[in-house]
Amino acid sequence: TPMTIAVDGPSGSGKSSVSRAVARELGLGYLDTGAMYRALAWWCLDQGVDLSDEAAVAQAAADLPLTISTDPDAPHVRVGDVDVTDAIREDRITGQVSAVATNLDVRAELRRRQRLIIEEQRGTTGGVVAEGRDLTTVVAPDAELRVLLTASEEARLARRATERHGAADAVTLAATRDLVLRRDREDSTVSTFLEATDGVVTVDTSALTFEEVVAALLALARG
Ligand code: C5P
Repeated sequence: TPMTIAVDGPSGSGKSSVSRAVARELGLGYLDTGAMYRALAWWCLDQGVDLSDEAAVAQAAADLPLTISTDPDAPHVRVGDVDVTDAIREDRITGQVSAVATNLDVRAELRRRQRLIIEEQRGTTGGVVAEGRDLTTVVAPDAELRVLLTASEEARLARRATERHGAADAVTLAATRDLVLRRDREDSTVSTFLEATDGVVTVDTSALTFEEVVAALLALARG
């Protein structure tokens, strides 16, 4: 029977790498919904769409020529003919993505596309691990397994600093802090974010290694 695993968590909770590993292990597809918001932000900037113009951003979401792979071993994102896999990770996108993600018309459109991809995966690979901020609550509330990954602010900053700079020391932590905390604040204006509702399993990853978090999810998935 098909399986959808919905994983939500904040920046630095490790949800992307964990979800990819779980998908690989179970032979499922992998959907990074944050990449879709990032791709839209990239396209708006590329096309000169003013991010404060809500109607224009909503129109861009409707028109977005997005292709996103669901292969956990080769996650790539294309907008039209342009491979934006790396470009959407740049600070300029991370710093502005919340502006498109808080637009409710954008959310409706991208959620619709996410549900289509999830349904398509259930019919082909047998299911998908889909991760983001609102998978457990809004996009896939009927998922067979729903997990909220949490982590202390300290642990989240240390992970982000290591990802960005290769180490978590006083200098790299300070450089990362503003970016992470500002995005938390901006994302939190969308009310459905990151509250565990009934039936959602919360896993606090603060004191766990990557392998331990993956093992915990696999145990839940295998019941
Ligand atoms: O997960 P990631 O950090 O790549 O997400 C980028 C941004 O996309 C988040 O900061 C948030 O604004 C938005 N997002 C969202 N809903 C999701 C996934 C991401 O609003 N399901």
